[in-house]
Formats: sequence, structure tokens, C-alpha cells
Amino acid sequence: MRIFDPHIHMTSRTTDDYEAMYAAGVRAVVEPAFWLGQPRTSVGSFVDYFDGLLGWERFRASQFGIAHHATIALNPKEANDPRCLGVLDVLPRYLEKDGVVAVGEIGFDSMTDAEETVMVRQLELAGEHDLPVMVHTPHRDKVAGTRRTLEIVQQVGLPPERVLVDHLNEKTVDLVDDAGCWAGFSVYPDTKMDEDRMVAILERRGLDRVLVNSAADWGRSDPLKTYRTGQAMLAGGYTDDDVDRVLWRNPVAFYGQSGRLLLDDGSLDATVGASAADFEGNTLQRGEPVGLA
Ligand SMILES: [Zn+2]
Repeated sequence: MRIFDPHIHMTSRTTDDYEAMYAAGVRAVVEPAFWLGQPRTSVGSFVDYFDGLLGWERFRASQFGIAHHATIALNPKEANDPRCLGVLDVLPRYLEKDGVVAVGEIGFDSMTDAEETVMVRQLELAGEHDLPVMVHTPHRDKVAGTRRTLEIVQQVGLPPERVLVDHLNEKTVDLVDDAGCWAGFSVYPDTKMDEDRMVAILERRGLDRVLVNSAADWGRSDPLKTYRTGQAMLAGGYTDDDVDRVLWRNPVAFYGQSGRLLLDDGSLDATVGASAADFEGNTLQRGEPVGLA
């Protein structure tokens, strides 16, 4: 099984996770820029975070045989903090960089006017930079938030096939399918979507324009939920080719619209595990490898 996790926050995960993901078949990921839990107080914190996603984290993933991409944006929650609005001015510089495969994650958190203003501006930026966009739907008032999100996408005029609406469930998937956007599902350990519900949704609406992700971050989550969904699909009678379509070819098709996927990078075949390579003088090694000391 080859797996492309289209939404996972590796910055908050360990090297054990990278090793387990590689062993399960994960060969590529997209890490969306998001809220860090601790509120940021200046634009500089975002700049360093964005640089970390595109630099250090991509290097770290490469040491475990995984191609790492990012989406860049001002997240919905911090769109409400006036101290963070200057991020909109630095985004154009980041939206031109290699490995940046979409604007995201944008969307609604509490559905405020400030969130809407920032969402509209970032949808426009996606158009200006010819990038797809990844939209998060709120955890509260999900149906109303999804409906309003789709209205705004339509008003801004982005082609629906370049828009991914994420964190969907049984109540919101039809709205997104009817709009012609891509449908994203985050499969979590004990809340929201689980792998059996995910398979039931696939059986009902088919395998077109659907992405399955673990959305693993610093909260309770499981970076192998993509793999477990693949297993649940096989147990439900789907073929290996069906699983490959959902877990690999669909994310490649969606994020490939950026023209910036890094999948031909020779490092994917590199020795797995921390190597002697370094990133600005920093390595993943802690002491000399056994046998060389
Ligand atoms: Zn996320």
C-alpha cells in the first residue's frame, strides 16, 4: 500500500511516528500551516514557522524516506488577532516557493467577520498565485460553516476542482459534492470520523474527488489512520487499486494542480533512518552510530 497523507502536522510528531508511517507505506505528506496551540504575538513567529515547514521539517521527513510538502496561510483562529494580520503581507513570498502546494488551511473557526475577511483575501491569493486551496470547516456549527464557506468560494470565483473542503462528515459531504469541490475527511481515534464510517461514506458517494487524512497534530490523533482506512476498505471489499486511488492517486491529482509536488526526489529511496546528512549544520543524529564510535 502506498500512501500520501494529504493533511498531517509532522512538526508536532516524533521520529517514531516517521518510522511507523514509512513502515505502513507512507511516502508523501502535505503539512498545512495551522494554529500552534500557543497563540502567536507577532508576524515574525509565523515567518520562522513557515521557514521551518519548508526547510527543517522537509529535511527531517526526507531522512525517513518521506516527501514533505506544505500549504501556507494565516489560520482561521489567528485571523481574529489584529497582531497577526501582517501575515497576509508576507504570504505572496511563500506562495511562490518549491513544495508549497496550496494556500491553507484557511476557513472558519468561530465564523466571525474577521475570519471571513481573511478567508476572502486568501482565496484571492490562491487565484493570483495559481494554487489550489485547502479549507478547514469549523468543529462547531459545521453545516452552517460549510454552507457559508461554499458560498464564499463561489463568490470569489475559484474553480471548484481547485478547492478542497476538509474535516467533513455525513452531514456536510453532500454540500461539498454538490458544489463540485474536493471532499476531505480527517479520521481520528475517538471523535469525529472513524475508518468504518469513512468506508460507508465511500460506498455511498464513490471514490471521485475524495481525500482521506489523519490530520495528526499535537492533540490525540493517529498518524496511521490513512493506513487503517486502507485496511478497512480492503475488509469492505474494495480492491488494492481502489485503495491506491484514494490514498495515493487522488492526493497526487489534487495537489498536483500546483505543479510543485516533489515526488521525483531521489531521496525517497534513500536509506531510512537518520543519516549523516545535515541541514544548516544540524542532523538528526544523537551521538555516533553504533560501530563507528
Ligand atoms: Zn490541520
